[in-house]
Amino acid sequence: MARVAIFQCAKIKDASCVACLKCFKAAEKREGEFSRYDSVSIGAMCGCGDCPGLVMPKAQLAMEMADYLDCDIDAIHLGTCMVKAKTTAACPIDHENLKNMLEKKFGKPVVIGTHNY
Ligand code: SF4
Ligand code: SF4
Repeated sequence: MARVAIFQCAKIKDASCVACLKCFKAAEKREGEFSRYDSVSIGAMCGCGDCPGLVMPKAQLAMEMADYLDCDIDAIHLGTCMVKAKTTAACPIDHENLKNMLEKKFGKPVVIGTHNY
């Protein structure tokens, strides 16, 4: 079982992507970017901190809390909301750069995207 943390676009969550139903469905069915896992659970969902993005400090807090709660995170995903925000919300985040920074800091694989709905 892979336990994943998902980062979300604060502009899209609960606006055009409501209640995170899409990511929960994709994880349950192992669809989209979750198809890489034998089984997967969503262990954490964390907003990006709104524009221009505060993912690194929020990731630090989330990973510390996950460690404190003994809920280790196996992989980090940038939600499809964040991917779509590049074209729909003029997102200033460089996803590849963010992926590299997260992987370097936390030593966990980072996947860009979640569902394909
Ligand atoms: S892409 Fe996933 S994490 Fe982002 S708002 Fe939609 S369901 Fe939530
Ligand atoms: S557009 Fe980018 S920085 Fe702004 S809220 Fe969405 S993901 Fe965060």
